[in-house]
Amino acid sequence: MTQLPGTSPRGVTILGSTGSIGVSTLDVLARHADKFKVVALTGAKRVDAMLEQCVRFRPRIAVMAEAESGKRLKEKCEALSLPTHVLWGDKAIAEVASLEDVEIVMAAIVGAAGLAGCMAAAHSGKRLLLANKEALVVGGEVFMNAVQKGRATLLPIDSEHSAVFQSLPDDAASWNRRINKIILTASGGPFRLLAPQDLRNVTPQQACAHPNWVMGQKISVDSATMMNKALEVIEAKFLFGVSPSQLEVVIHPQSVIHSMVQYTDNSVVAQLGTPDMRGPIAYGLSWPERIANGTDPINFASLGALTFETMDSNNHPLRFPGLQLAWAVLAEGPGRPAVLNAANEVGVQAFLSSQIRFDQIHAVNDSTLTDVSHDVPHSIDDLLEIDRMARAHADAVVKAMRH
Ligand code: NAD
Ligand code: MG
Repeated sequence: MTQLPGTSPRGVTILGSTGSIGVSTLDVLARHADKFKVVALTGAKRVDAMLEQCVRFRPRIAVMAEAESGKRLKEKCEALSLPTHVLWGDKAIAEVASLEDVEIVMAAIVGAAGLAGCMAAAHSGKRLLLANKEALVVGGEVFMNAVQKGRATLLPIDSEHSAVFQSLPDDAASWNRRINKIILTASGGPFRLLAPQDLRNVTPQQACAHPNWVMGQKISVDSATMMNKALEVIEAKFLFGVSPSQLEVVIHPQSVIHSMVQYTDNSVVAQLGTPDMRGPIAYGLSWPERIANGTDPINFASLGALTFETMDSNNHPLRFPGLQLAWAVLAEGPGRPAVLNAANEVGVQAFLSSQIRFDQIHAVNDSTLTDVSHDVPHSIDDLLEIDRMARAHADAVVKAMRH
């Protein structure tokens, strides 16, 4: 039988399928096997989690970041006679982001490590679903140019940016003329009410216990410091082409309003939903259509109050000193967000492995921004060199703190 045009399932690659966003993406895809086909999956080290996904979704290719894990997965897939071809290494990750029969690439690797895969998807004109905000923070203008040149479609998955995208008019050419502000909401994380001086005693476990979302460890710590919101401010600047002064953050502890757009007549359009990443993931997959995603509808009767706090109230500047770094690095110019991101990745890992205190993450970021200087980057290689220099500096700062 001949297939009607447009009815064959659209090929999907998930970069980082074993993580929190990756698993939620597979959950949505499993609900729509008629519309989407999993072509390739990638993971870093968790062989058993990847094997389970291969059994269930039977991708053509599975990639592990490291050779040792890749070889183990290959043996296990062969033992089960799975149709999955197993590869490993960064080059293979970039390859599965640009396969011909893949139309959609979900970028759900955590950190700057995901940049190469995003760039490959951008160059090959894919629909690029961006959860991996660090890749855009590091890649900045170079990343956006690649999207434009490759004729890729970049769609936000971060819940705030998906909300903004859903609150903007379809006609992107009119955004500049019509928008006054983009208002990103922030939950305030687990330490919103903690006395600032007590932040020095919090543990990784406390930092990872987010009140509203279940997420990977890195973004959980970023939510606790609000560096996540700083990265999101930078992400919004690049995604929506607004000036940094048009970006505002408001604390909204219930995480029901996912973000808002204020128009030039002061009318505000917001997007609401239960805090469940399957919402923005499904919207990215199906845009401009909408599909079922497994989320619960908002129950307004049980919701009660929606509340707000401004960022300059309640000691928040003392509690969340990292947030303003977003505007600082954007004002300093290209490459500076990459320095901040690298320092923060190093600081968060050092905190998670109990090498530094929670409040020292900001000190690592601050010191790295002060001490690392560089030329204006023109390519991804330039940005990766800035990332390398900033990591080396941040590592040294961490080492000094341990003594
Ligand atoms: P996670 O830690 O749960 O998963 C990360 C994934 O990336 C895993 O599959 C892991 O194997 C892979 N990975 C890690 N290091 C890698 C490397 N060096 N090379 C190749 N693969 C590697 O993280 P997550 O919470 O799913 O977050 C993923 C991204 O999505 C992050 O950038 C995060 O900021 C963003 N995001 C997450 C959420 C959420 O609710 N979890 C919400 C918004 C945005
Ligand atoms: Mg977010």
